[in-house]
Amino acid sequence: MPKVLRADNMNKCLGCFTCMLTCAAVNHNNHNLAKSSIKVKTRGGLQSKFAATICVACKEPACAEACPTNALVKRPGGGVKLIEEKCIACEKCVAACIVGSIHMDYDRKIPIVCKHCGACVRMCPHNCLSMEEVSE
Ligand code: SF4
Ligand code: SF4
Repeated sequence: MPKVLRADNMNKCLGCFTCMLTCAAVNHNNHNLAKSSIKVKTRGGLQSKFAATICVACKEPACAEACPTNALVKRPGGGVKLIEEKCIACEKCVAACIVGSIHMDYDRKIPIVCKHCGACVRMCPHNCLSMEEVSE
């Protein structure tokens, strides 16, 4: 069964950004936090908890629908896969994502899209993230 990323335990997050560093390193061979598809931020205020913006693995992805070149294709279980060669960097997927989880990599001129690979889940020291088995 396919698996998708969930961030259901963010109340345990201490803001170490290990998930973001892992995503950037594994998927983009880069240690710049801006290359991560998972985005962790404070909810505001000095004592506040942290929140994660992640791809919620839509079964009918608005990002793919908005793409004029079919560079984003549905993946089994939800979410999308990017076919880099087809992308023209128009940013329509960025505007269309229902949770604001896509942002552009302006160095490579492609969007940064979650692959639901689970690397961030394995590295989070506080078990804030998980992979959920879902139907195709
Ligand atoms: S930036 Fe690329 S993937 Fe996104 S909508 Fe445009 S062509 Fe499609
Ligand atoms: S990137 Fe956004 S619109 Fe596309 S599948 Fe993920 S949450 Fe849905």
